[in-house]
Amino acid sequence: MITGGKTMTKNAKDRTFETAEFPEYRVEAYVAEIPVPEYMESCVDIPTFLGYCEACPSYGKTWACPPFDFSVQDFWRSYRSFYMSGKKIIFDTREISRDCAVEDFKKISGQILKKESHALDTELIKLEAQYPGSVALSMGSCDVCGEGGCTRPFGEPCRRPERMRHSVESLGGNVGLSVKKYLKQEIQWMSEDRLPEYFMLMGGLLKK
Ligand code: SF4
Repeated sequence: MITGGKTMTKNAKDRTFETAEFPEYRVEAYVAEIPVPEYMESCVDIPTFLGYCEACPSYGKTWACPPFDFSVQDFWRSYRSFYMSGKKIIFDTREISRDCAVEDFKKISGQILKKESHALDTELIKLEAQYPGSVALSMGSCDVCGEGGCTRPFGEPCRRPERMRHSVESLGGNVGLSVKKYLKQEIQWMSEDRLPEYFMLMGGLLKK
C-alpha cells in the first residue's frame, strides 16, 4: 500500500461569492493504493449502498447512478488495483465562526467543494491516460451537463460519456471507511451549531 499527504494553500479572496469575503482554505492530498480484492473485502458493500442510492433523488436520474445494466461486482473484479485519492479541504473555522452564519458557510463551502470535486475529477481523468485500461471513479452524482440536465430521464444516451464517471459510492464503496482505513483520516460532519474544520473528498482510479 502507498500512502502520503501534501499541502496546498488556496486563496478564495479573489473570487466573487454571494456573501462577503471568504478566508483562505488549504488542501491536503492523501493517496493510497491497494489490490481490488482487498478493497472489495474491506470496503465494498453493494446491497447497503444500493439502498442508500435508492433513497437519493438522483437514483436512476443520471447515467452515473444506479440502477446499472452491468454487474457491479464483475466491474470491480475486472480491475487489479484501486488507487484512492483524497483531498482534505481545511478552513479556519474559528475565524469563519466570527463573521459567517452557518447558512452562509454552507453556501460558500458548497461552492468550494464543487470546485475542488471538479478539480479532483479532472486530475483522475488525466491519470487514466497514464494507465491504459484504467477508469476514474468520481464523487456524488454526475453534473457534467449542468443546467442542460441529464439525458437519462428521456431514455437518451449519455451526452458526455468521455467525462461521465461513476462515483465510488454508486459502486458500493464505503468512502468514510476508506478514508479512515487507507487514507488515515477522519470524516467530519457539519451541524447547526458547529462548523467542521475540514471536509474530505475521495475519488479514485481503478487500474488493470
Ligand atoms: S454526462 Fe450528462 S448525460 Fe451523461 S450522465 Fe452526466 S449529466 Fe447525464
